[in-house]
Amino acid sequence: MEEGLSLLYFAGVAQGLYIASAAMIVEDDPEALTFTVALAPISSVVEGSLHVELNEAQRRYYLRVVKQRANQAHFRVEVLQAYRQRCTICELRHPELLDAAHIVPDSQGGRPVVSNGLALCKIHHAAFDHSMVGIRPDYVVEVRDDLLAESDGPMLRHGIQGIHGRPLVLPKRVEWMPDPEALELRYETFRLAS
Ligand SMILES: [Zn+2]
Repeated sequence: MEEGLSLLYFAGVAQGLYIASAAMIVEDDPEALTFTVALAPISSVVEGSLHVELNEAQRRYYLRVVKQRANQAHFRVEVLQAYRQRCTICELRHPELLDAAHIVPDSQGGRPVVSNGLALCKIHHAAFDHSMVGIRPDYVVEVRDDLLAESDGPMLRHGIQGIHGRPLVLPKRVEWMPDPEALELRYETFRLAS
């Protein structure tokens, strides 16, 4: 506390599963042999062997966070695998630059399953999320009219305008194919933005 150093606080959420948070000691009571710890927002999930007592509400909260993160991590691995680590639009093949995008977003009840996912590079993910780029249910890419009419440097020319009318590079297995109904729903959002 005196030196202002931070600690790592491991909160046990299930057997063998812990959440680590940055923590600081903010109050010391040597007589009562107690001290007060302030927690920073939860930063990462780790495995370990320390045990911290949590009340039921905390336990449920942490468990939900852990499950959410596990689902997200799982979704990414499965989607990128299905698309052979390539952007489905431009075929870029660097996992550091790839995301697993939801077709129907989380917030609209889209499930984290491969048929509701697309492997997209960062640029195409953002363009898709902002309805600058749409994907038709027959797996063809469309670029919004105003972007097609714009003139700018190579990223716009090659990265955006150049993908208009391109078919998606799809997974090999039928069960991994993007769900046409989900695409239809999402395409509607794109059409409304056009
Ligand atoms: Zn791409």
